[in-house]
Amino acid sequence: MAQHCTFCKIINKEIPATVVYEDDLVLAFNDIKPAAPFHVLVIPKVHHDSIADVPADDSIVSVLTNRASHIAGQLGLANDGYRLVVNHGDNGGQTVYHLHLHLLGGRFMTWPPG
Ligand code: 5GP
Ligand code: ZN
Repeated sequence: MAQHCTFCKIINKEIPATVVYEDDLVLAFNDIKPAAPFHVLVIPKVHHDSIADVPADDSIVSVLTNRASHIAGQLGLANDGYRLVVNHGDNGGQTVYHLHLHLLGGRFMTWPPG
């Protein structure tokens, strides 16, 4: 738990969110400013500032990708496809410094990203 972290506050139910999945390790909820018809944030319950701060022997990133593909299936996105994104730092476009996976779906995604 990081004291001033928005996503820790969502985990602790201090800030409301529309939760689409929860287990012991992971919480997933709708992005407040969706960039696609489906835009879910998949986050670890343990705070890490970013992808760069996860210890090498920590399996949380594979847990996040596993849960994200499970949620995509539940949302009916598996056949048409979806995109998973992790932003790191200023150039990566990271705005919330609690590790999160963006799950985006429901429309065609262009490449390269903006
Ligand atoms: P980042 O830019 O760090 O990769 O992504 C942060 C995401 O968190 C953004 O897409 C933003 O819309 C979302 N976000 C920021 N604050 C909140 C919040 O209080 N609730 C929810 N549900 N999403 C948030
Ligand atoms: Zn946090």
